[in-house]
Amino acid sequence: MDFPILDTQVYGHPLVYLDNAATTQKPQQVIEALTNYYLTLNSNIHRGTHYLATQATERYEAVRQQVQQFIHAASNKEIVFTRGTTESINLVAATFGRQFLHEGDEVIVSGMEHHSNIVPWQLACEQVGARLRVIPFSDEGVLDLEVYRSLFSTRTRLVAVNHVSNTLGTVNPVKEIVGIAHGHNVPVLIDGAQAIAHMPVDVQDLGCDFYCFSGHKMYAPMGVGVLYGREELLNQLPPYQGGGEMIKDVTFEKTTYNELPYKFEAGTPSVGDVLGLGAAIDFIQSRGMDSIVRHEEQLMSYAMDRLATVPNIRFFGTAPGKVGVISFLLGNAHPYDVGTLLDKLGVAVRTGHHCTQPIMDRYGIPGTVRASFACYTTTADIDALHAALLRIEPMLM
Ligand code: PMP
Repeated sequence: MDFPILDTQVYGHPLVYLDNAATTQKPQQVIEALTNYYLTLNSNIHRGTHYLATQATERYEAVRQQVQQFIHAASNKEIVFTRGTTESINLVAATFGRQFLHEGDEVIVSGMEHHSNIVPWQLACEQVGARLRVIPFSDEGVLDLEVYRSLFSTRTRLVAVNHVSNTLGTVNPVKEIVGIAHGHNVPVLIDGAQAIAHMPVDVQDLGCDFYCFSGHKMYAPMGVGVLYGREELLNQLPPYQGGGEMIKDVTFEKTTYNELPYKFEAGTPSVGDVLGLGAAIDFIQSRGMDSIVRHEEQLMSYAMDRLATVPNIRFFGTAPGKVGVISFLLGNAHPYDVGTLLDKLGVAVRTGHHCTQPIMDRYGIPGTVRASFACYTTTADIDALHAALLRIEPMLM
């Protein structure tokens, strides 16, 4: 069994884990990479000359290389380890904001962003008197690119959009979005939190300037994430946090900073988690991204057909080619009630606004029930969700 936790029983039912957009479960080999690190390698990296420190450093830097290849970055200097997507976006918003945002400037985001790709930009804008412009989306959950084109002005400084919506499952046309922005000499940050485990990502092909993701949504441990940034742009940004490792020389008069990517990695990183991320990439590559994509495509079409037969179901997010998540409501039943009843039948889903309150406002609903997939999700899991919904629907209507 690759995923030991999936053998869990919940209230006498086998666990049906459909909350993968919140976090994926971890395969045995990732858990082993983590425990092996603490059993055999634990040591602080970069500064040590002793055996454990050198070994740990080598392994940590090898994962950087692995990530570079995984997303096809041009250089490993462009891979910054962070705590996750949220920290990656905050890093860019804070440093880019300090360097490039001024009063009257504008940052374009979409109406389907996770709060972590809205609030950091609001914070950066508030500091200087800049403002957000928002790309609207259709009832199906498709961004309006005509409006997007019209949002650019001489004051636009950056575009920040997600690759895949964690609430609607929409795969946004990020390459086109980047092309349009670059036509105005505006850089683009992509929040890849919901894309990275579900499709091949090639940052050079996308042409984006920043790409952010979390390890824990791609079978790796919590506590580690990645910021990819184009070297030229990262070099223009001031440091984020000050501390150990990010410096070259420190005196009380003046400090000079380390080179990339260390300039952005202040303090002791979560080394064991980074090694776990390496094991997760190995896991994905051993399954094969192409076969993961095919499996999840089939599953999505199976699930949408099957769930459509549940009386009173209403879907939110029906964009063609959507990935990974199905958001729905049963009539006007509160999503929390649906989620609680599903849980009692062993089915784990997420309910609420999924950190995307503007999407809920757009549809005029308090929240949704969200079932989300991973590479280990099966049609039997969908059948279990379907059967459970058929059972609870009459109780709620
Ligand atoms: N963006 C998106 C699209 C997400 O789905 C999430 C996690 N739900 C985040 C950002 C934030 O990720 P994390 O909490 O791992 O930093």
